[in-house]
Amino acid sequence: MYHNSSRLESILDMNFTYLQKTVRIIEGLSMKKYKHFETNAIRTQIKTTHEKEHASPMYLTSSFVFDDAEEMRATFAEEIDRNTYSRFTNPNTTEFIDKMCALEGAEAGYATATGMAAVFSTFATLLNAGDHLLSCRSIFGSSHSVITKFLPKYKIESTYLDLDDTDNWQEKVQPNSKVLFIETPTNPGIELIDLEFAGAFAKKNNLILIVDNCFATPYLQQPVEYGADLVIHSATKYLDGQGRVMGGMIVGRADLIKEIYTFSRSTGPALSPFNAWVLSKSLETLAVRMEKHGENALKLAEWLEANEHVEWVRYPFLPSHPQHEIAKKQMRSGGGMVCFGIKGGVERGRQFLNSIEMCSLTANLGDTRTIVTHPASTTHARLTDEERAATGIAPNLIRISAGLEHIEDIIADLEQAFGRSSD
Ligand SMILES: *Cc1c(COP(=O)(O)O)cnc(C)c1O
Repeated sequence: MYHNSSRLESILDMNFTYLQKTVRIIEGLSMKKYKHFETNAIRTQIKTTHEKEHASPMYLTSSFVFDDAEEMRATFAEEIDRNTYSRFTNPNTTEFIDKMCALEGAEAGYATATGMAAVFSTFATLLNAGDHLLSCRSIFGSSHSVITKFLPKYKIESTYLDLDDTDNWQEKVQPNSKVLFIETPTNPGIELIDLEFAGAFAKKNNLILIVDNCFATPYLQQPVEYGADLVIHSATKYLDGQGRVMGGMIVGRADLIKEIYTFSRSTGPALSPFNAWVLSKSLETLAVRMEKHGENALKLAEWLEANEHVEWVRYPFLPSHPQHEIAKKQMRSGGGMVCFGIKGGVERGRQFLNSIEMCSLTANLGDTRTIVTHPASTTHARLTDEERAATGIAPNLIRISAGLEHIEDIIADLEQAFGRSSD
């Protein structure tokens, strides 16, 4: 104990070299090991213990013990590859990351406590004071807040690009532009961005392309194929798919993930091992769930399109979607999100929501339960009509996250709600 202070210094020193080792842990060990998505989602697993358990056990521990000083020394000297502290790495988190790397076709990943932790940690790692970020107007509300309210605190400026006018994107690029952050399909307007175009645009302008792939999930589209450098997820949505836990994920280029890991390891947005266990298990059913979400959503969209109470419907796999060709090119199916305009404006939208009986009114999406929301009277009520229009939210827009209930029961609930609200 008499060498206490110098010992602490040398531990801090060792901690620094330890960084290089842990990046190996977060690299996707089994990137697309099997030919098919479902198999990678089910068969990517951490090593079993001596108990030979079939399902991966939960490692609910904050730290990992060393047998002796020699093992601790060897670990910090990178001679042994092992877990130390769960803010850095944990076997459950590693399994979840490995699976997501396999499913997105990415080199490496880092798991976070929420989707917003993934978004913020990525921005905070990659952007410096004086850098400029390009994004699109219709992005997730909290991402919009981070970009417009908080990044300016750190002298990081941003410009929004118009989704429907890609011709003017080039003139918005500045010499200090570093990142292009996009989301497709968008929330809640279900608009699309051509990923092939975005990938080529980012490459030409030397921008780091980050895609929030929350609505599509890797089952429907894999942005890395189109040149995305990083892909971000709110695992809270379809990856869990059952409305149980919060989580986030960043996967992509190993050099960028290493920087994000280095930043996050000290700043602490890490995912809890329990949530990682839940999410990794959820991924085993992602393919079947997304198939069914897409099937229900398409039937719902077709039914809505023929409904007298409905002004318009937007769903990527309806031929009436303005970007249907892009949808077919880059998405396996249209996904679980549908939006439509109810006849009668804001007040009718409010009444419609009040008349819903079975479906849930809740601030989430990507659940087994169908969720109905009316952004203009709820989540986006504080915006002016103009601001709402700029983000693609009409006053009469109703957003539905089609669940996995029987489609006839979903339609019956909406039908009675149309009947009990009047325009
Ligand atoms: C929900 C959501 C997020 C944020 O994720 P949280 O897990 O709620 O922090 C980010 N992007 C999109 C598109 C989302 O829907």
